[in-house]
Amino acid sequence: MTIRQDEAIILRTRDYRESDRLITFFSRSQGQLTGIAKGARRSKKRFVHTLEPLSHVLITYADRSSSGLVRIDASELKNGFIELRNDVTRLGYASLSCEVVLEMSPERQANPTLFALLNHYLKELGGKGEPENSSFLFLVRMLSLSGYAPNLQKCLRCGRDSTSAQGWFFSISQGGLLCGNHRPGGKVYLLSLGTVMLLRQAQQLPLGKVWRLRFHRKSRDECRFLLLDLVRHHLEKDLKSLKLLYQIGALEVTNSSVNP
Ligand SMILES: [Zn+2]
Repeated sequence: MTIRQDEAIILRTRDYRESDRLITFFSRSQGQLTGIAKGARRSKKRFVHTLEPLSHVLITYADRSSSGLVRIDASELKNGFIELRNDVTRLGYASLSCEVVLEMSPERQANPTLFALLNHYLKELGGKGEPENSSFLFLVRMLSLSGYAPNLQKCLRCGRDSTSAQGWFFSISQGGLLCGNHRPGGKVYLLSLGTVMLLRQAQQLPLGKVWRLRFHRKSRDECRFLLLDLVRHHLEKDLKSLKLLYQIGALEVTNSSVNP
């Protein structure tokens, strides 16, 4: 049995048996893990409310077999992101990011860069960051870190450079741009050159600087459903946390995709 202590962000909690809870967390050095917190339902004292979704904690756990559940022994709060919990829009976008990490990151696959991304993003959301703008930046980086970076350099068919035209189509199924001469069939997304360049910068800038990028109205309308649909396409399922964003009207803007 190995005892580890690691920074982690809590992604999901579920009640388990009479008095326990199952906690899924993303740790800095071991990636996504699920652990059992014995007695967490009966005694609030033991973990002092640290095992709540979104919380950034220092967690101590016992790993028996390098597979299956770990046993959570202790948890110390580093950042509870209180400011996210008091604002329903910020909470909606924060919950979306936790669900995306939960669904897209394989269990027990270390990804310290993804841990840093999620932690930076939650801080940004809890601070001055405009929620939707920050969520676009998070989703672009998340897709890249998961191996699904959209191809924004050139037309997938003819190789024409993306800086050479003002308007582009994006094909979700092909994962990249197509020029006006190679408009794809099925549902396509229109992207202006400005949006393409913003998305490219979002993929490339160092993590500490990426949050400065601003999506103005046109780029927002173009990206809103594109990024979510890319995630849903790779997961092959819908995201539960979108329901809250729809309920509060955060996603009630015209879809810029067009059908043939
Ligand atoms: Zn082309």
